Amino acid sequence: MFTLTVLGTAAPYPQPDRPCSGYLLRTENAKVWVDAGPGSMMNLLRHTRLEELDAIWLSHLHADHTLDLVNAYYALSFGLLPKVAPIPVYAPAGMGDRIGGWFLQPGVADEVLELQDLSDGHEVRINDLSLLSKPVKHGTEAYGLRATANGRTLVYSGDCAPSPGLDVLAAGADVLLCEADVDQPSEVHHTPEDAGELARRAGVGRLVVTHVGPALDRVAATKRAAVVFGGPTLTAVENESLTV
Ligand SMILES: [Zn+2]
Repeated sequence: MFTLTVLGTAAPYPQPDRPCSGYLLRTENAKVWVDAGPGSMMNLLRHTRLEELDAIWLSHLHADHTLDLVNAYYALSFGLLPKVAPIPVYAPAGMGDRIGGWFLQPGVADEVLELQDLSDGHEVRINDLSLLSKPVKHGTEAYGLRATANGRTLVYSGDCAPSPGLDVLAAGADVLLCEADVDQPSEVHHTPEDAGELARRAGVGRLVVTHVGPALDRVAATKRAAVVFGGPTLTAVENESLTV
């Protein structure tokens, strides 16, 4: 079993029934929360418990991908949950300072969150799941993710413009979860056509279009991406799951 559950897709602010970026990856022996945008924790808790997470992976530090880490810290510290070992959080450098700054107390989350910096080629194995990170182009430190379990592969763009590192990650993936935030080519985001072109170049099995911005309709964006890709193309929808 290797499943992707969509927790949130909105950008850059949450909308009714549509939180910002968040996903849950589950294998037989691993559960990882990928991006913690505002509202995504609410949906995470429909599918698992915080104390059951093996790790949290954050693509970059923009608010629409990280704000619910503050809520996770609150829940784990003050939510009367069973005490567990600190949950590893893989994120660009500075995430701990952001949380400490929020509470005016450096290191405040250290008892419940074990923050670890991402870097080019960072790889971690979590039971039967391995996570490989590479930098992508987003105007700030940002990463794409290649998650592999039981011979199956899911690649997530995070937020970015077309990037050589993302091409490397996406090569031959079974599922490509790619943002399509903008209508016109940009230095920091994909258009739907960019997402479709990446899927075609990389020879992926299926493309899942996500993080569609407010200037676009996500179903229409998916159709635009599908025309360019020419393969199976889906829209990421909150609380839906797919088997990788
Ligand atoms: Zn961003």
